[in-house]
Formats: sequence, structure tokens, C-alpha cells
Amino acid sequence: MEFRDLKTQFLKLKPQIMEALEHECEGGHFISGPSVRQLEEELAEYVGVPYCVSCANGTDALLLALMAWNIGAGDAVFVPDFTFFSSGEVVANRGATPIFVDVKEETFNMDSERLEEAIQDVLAEGKLKPTAIIPVDLFGLPADFQAIKKIAKKYNLRILEDGAQGFGGMIGEQRACSFGDISTTSFFPAKPLGCYGDGGAIFTNDKEAADLIRSFAVHGKGSVKYDNVRLGMNSRLDTIQASILRVKLKSFQDCELQMVNEVAKRYHSLLEGKVGIPNTPEGMLSSWAQYTIILNSEEHRDRIQSTLKAQGIPTMVYYMKPMHQQKAFEGTASAVANNPVTEKLCDTVLSLPMHPYMSVADVELVAQAVLKALA
Ligand SMILES: *Cc1c(COP(=O)(O)O)cnc(C)c1O
Repeated sequence: MEFRDLKTQFLKLKPQIMEALEHECEGGHFISGPSVRQLEEELAEYVGVPYCVSCANGTDALLLALMAWNIGAGDAVFVPDFTFFSSGEVVANRGATPIFVDVKEETFNMDSERLEEAIQDVLAEGKLKPTAIIPVDLFGLPADFQAIKKIAKKYNLRILEDGAQGFGGMIGEQRACSFGDISTTSFFPAKPLGCYGDGGAIFTNDKEAADLIRSFAVHGKGSVKYDNVRLGMNSRLDTIQASILRVKLKSFQDCELQMVNEVAKRYHSLLEGKVGIPNTPEGMLSSWAQYTIILNSEEHRDRIQSTLKAQGIPTMVYYMKPMHQQKAFEGTASAVANNPVTEKLCDTVLSLPMHPYMSVADVELVAQAVLKALA
């Protein structure tokens, strides 16, 4: 069994994907070909924002947003403690200080009350200037933007939505990747919408930010590529990846988002009441980047993981370490945090195989194996 089966999807979409590849190879516009702009337009329309800029990966997408805001030394940026490393890495790479905020056990996402406390602590200390918040749509579920937006307004902070795992999710009628002043996503193959390599995108309502990001992504270009008005980087989405993504976006919209939600429902019905199951608050839709359960203890979790492994069922621990405990932050202000929920989750979470093409039989097999290992 695959943890995330990309082959079944490929076999289903093979005719369209091969046609797209042939088209791009014959066309020869491997960098910034027409498909890149076409994809950006389709993504912007799906997400419901006017501007989308594609780039080389989800980490660059976050970094480019921080560059557009000129975030750097002296700035405090609030990031959940329970996330993939990139969400905080980009902040520190800009010379700013990530402040790691605890999450809620029910949603795995940033706890807005703890966020406000963290902002007040930074203000009271008076060394750093609170500048931005990076809420993460962890495992596919949009962060608590209703509460976070209020706090952002109160303290005059910008919101950078890290939607690397959240693409396709919703709050009410509004799509993920539209909740931030700038929002980003990743097209890493295993993400809800993945390509066949690295890729990423930035979404915003702010034309000025979009223009700046387009410039930063191509060596700080001015009117043309060889007119360089600022220091930038080289971060582009390949034309071939854009072409593949156009095929996959259509399938994502037509059926995959719905299919993966059906898989989640099936897991819920088999596991509810037996282990901690992921909770989707009323009015929200998850795109299920992961299906993550919570077990009683680290020993318990590790035992269940190895029992499943012995039966050929792959599982993953996302994430095994709080951000503030990562060695990369040792000795910095980012290492100072008291986040008991994150610490507990790191010891007790287990992500099960999950993807839109997972068969009923496989979901039952995994759930039964978990229940048996519990006994
Ligand atoms: C995957 C991921 C990223 C980074 O995306 P890449 O395309 O791998 O650079 C950033 N944040 C989160 C939460 C992610 O899961």
C-alpha cells in the first residue's frame, strides 16, 4: 500500500498528461511558456483572488511574500509551533524572528488565544516589532482566520497564509489561499494539488505586492529581465509543471477534492470513539493533505506504527518535533516557548495513508489494523 498513491492518479490522467508533455516539448518554451500564465489565471479564479504568481516551490512562495513586505531584522513573525519547518525557516532566513505559538488539539492549527498572548509578550518585552502572522492550514484544514483576522487588525499585523497543505479547503464559501493579505501554496507532489517536481504559487488581492513578487522572483527585474532594479532570486515554475498542473487542477476540481473527503468520512466512521480523529469545525472543508489520528502516548503511537508497518501499511509522524525545539533555532529567541499542546501532539500523532484514489477496501484494511493494534 502507498502512503499517497500518485500512480493511480497518473494512470487515470495519463492521456491528458502525455498530451500536455508532448505539447510543451514540441513548443520548446520550457521557461515562462504560455501555460504558466494560463495556469496562474485558472488558479486565481479557483481560489477567488485577482492575482496569482507561480514560483519554484512553496518555501520560495513564503520567502517572496516576506521580501515583498520587507520583513527582516527586528521583526517578530508569529508562526504555529506545529508545522513543517519552512513556515518558520523563511522568517529566520530574512533575519526576522519567528515566535512559535501553540496550536489547538482539536484542529492542529494555531490557537488564536495563545497568539494574542504571544503578541502581548513581544510588545511587553519591547525588543522586537510584531509585524506579521503566518497561520498554516495544517493537514488541509484552513486555520481559524475569523479569530486571527481580528487579532491582526487589533495589532496592525499582516497575515501570510501558508496554504501549502490547504489548497482546496474552505471556510463557508471562501477558498483557502485567499485568507491572507498574501497566501501561498506548494505543488510538491504529495500536496493536495501536486505537480511532478517542485512548484509553488502566491495569491493576493494586492496588485502592488503581486508586481513586486513577480519582480523578486525573476532577479528583481524592472521593465525587462535585463533591467534589474532590486536584488531578487530565480524562482519560477517550469512550463512543463504548469502544463501538468492544468490537467491536475481540472481533476482536483471535478472529483478529487470530493473523493478525498469521502475517504476521510469513511475513516471517521470506522475510527470515531476509538482514537482521536481529526475534527473539521462547522462550516469548514478540509482538503486532507493528511489524515492524522491522536493516540494515548508516544509508546502507544510507536507501537501502533510498527505493528502497521509489519503489515505493509505505511504511516508517518507529522511532526515529531515542535518548531521551537529544532536545533536550527537553538540559542535564539525562537527557542523560547511554552507550548504543551504541540509537545503532546508531537508524541502522539500518526498520519495514515490518505489520497483521493484510496479504495474502500484499503481504508477498511488500515482502520481495522489500527483497531486491532489498539486491542
Ligand atoms: C510543504 C510545505 C511547505 C513548503 O513547500 P515546498 O514546496 O516543499 O517548498 C511550506 N509549508 C508547509 C506547511 C508545508 O507543508
